[in-house]
Amino acid sequence: MNTYEEILQEQRTYFLSGETKDIGHKKENLRKLLRVLKENEEDILSALTEDLGKSHTEGYTTEVGIVLSEIRNAIKHVSSWSRNKRVRTALLHFPSKSYIIKESIGNVLIMSPWNYPFQLTFAPLVGAMAAGCTAIIKPSRYSAATSAVMKRIINDNFDRREFFLFEGGRDVNTALLDLKWDYIFFTGSPNVGKIVLSKAAENLTPVTLELGGKSPVIITEHSDEVLAASRLIFGKFMNLGQTCIAPDYVLVHKSKTKRFLSEIEKGIKKAFGEDPITSKDYGKIINRHHFDRLSGLIKGSPVYSGGKTDEEKLKIAPTILFPASKNDPVMQEEIFGPLMPVLEYENLDDAISFINERPRPLALYIFSNRKEEIEKVHKLVTFGGGCVNDAIMHIVSHHLPFGGVGNSGMGSYHGKRSFDTFTHEKGILKHYRWPDITLRNPPYKKKEGIIRLMLH
Ligand code: NAD
Repeated sequence: MNTYEEILQEQRTYFLSGETKDIGHKKENLRKLLRVLKENEEDILSALTEDLGKSHTEGYTTEVGIVLSEIRNAIKHVSSWSRNKRVRTALLHFPSKSYIIKESIGNVLIMSPWNYPFQLTFAPLVGAMAAGCTAIIKPSRYSAATSAVMKRIINDNFDRREFFLFEGGRDVNTALLDLKWDYIFFTGSPNVGKIVLSKAAENLTPVTLELGGKSPVIITEHSDEVLAASRLIFGKFMNLGQTCIAPDYVLVHKSKTKRFLSEIEKGIKKAFGEDPITSKDYGKIINRHHFDRLSGLIKGSPVYSGGKTDEEKLKIAPTILFPASKNDPVMQEEIFGPLMPVLEYENLDDAISFINERPRPLALYIFSNRKEEIEKVHKLVTFGGGCVNDAIMHIVSHHLPFGGVGNSGMGSYHGKRSFDTFTHEKGILKHYRWPDITLRNPPYKKKEGIIRLMLH
């Protein structure tokens, strides 16, 4: 038995004891997590700076703050989420009652990527903890500093029979995926998502896949393009575009292009100064591989502004690509970097078709002042979630499901949905012992009419 199997076996035994399901125990875990994260806040923020060049403000806003808020919300509501739910009972079952038991799904595996290494590891963990599951956690090897802090936080403060974090590369993921889990929660690329899903299928293990892809922006004929430019600066260039829901490319109505381009250039200067790659508020590309990939994409594209790179510091300036076209290399893959292709369109229908010819996006952002335009896009395009006249911010709400559809993923989480993700709804019909009505027993002669009436 290897270490992975050994710890999973311990977690299985512990789960079967029923202790993890106790509401007091779940609250205690969540409170402990809140306290330990606050105690380690400086270390987490410094690790995020080391891995991705994130300023402490950005690290808090986009990672730590989101997780702390998820934990507080879970502590507040976990008792009511966990309660059995009474539901109606059909007349046919008289005399009985029906209810749903909220049952912890069991032993779960959480695998996370490097781009928001803290948030994307702990946000699902909060759901697993609230639901009373055990978890083995495997973050990405690329964000090594953050993984090291997370390992200390989990492994030094929690019982390994309940929560344990393994560092390491692909070999560790592969070994973990070979084991039998009750649930797998994976965040990463569609390509690795396919591997996870096929491994899960071997044991019929349910999964959540939080994947990526190209998330479009539409700036319509009836929009405020100045506002769009201002809001896309944050959405696109935060974490240098290494965000799963970053606006990937912009479809702009041709009447709005000129102003949009000049405003976005102005906005970039205002946010990051004349030389953005020296700005303290501008991070870095995760590693050499992605730096080279993005530099290659710039070379094959029509650079309108930006394009400056610093190989040593792994920095790439905000870069606008215009006029981009659908055959550019940058339009063939998820960009995951600070490059913004801008493509013009004439009719909204053409923009809609352009998106629908590609895999279903994780997010879509429409900038428009017309209800009809917004409703048309929402009706005709299937995507994970998004914003109207904004970008990214839908991820911050506890009340909105966060997840993809089709190529961008399956399942969703945040707030109560994170609890639901790791919960099985066990439906129970409790029949009273008396009176014992034998209507459903043969002989059926003359009973069918009554049964039909009762099932109506
Ligand atoms: P990735 O798929 O390469 O890696 C994710 C995880 O899978 C890591 O832990 C990695 O170690 C592991 N992994 C890599 N190759 C593997 C293999 N062959 N077998 C088993 N495990 C393997 O993704 P990434 O580069 O870390 O992150 C970028 C991708 O993640 C982008 O596509 C992005 O859109 C997506 N993403 C999605 C979300 C979301 O919430 N939907 C959030 C962040 C990132």
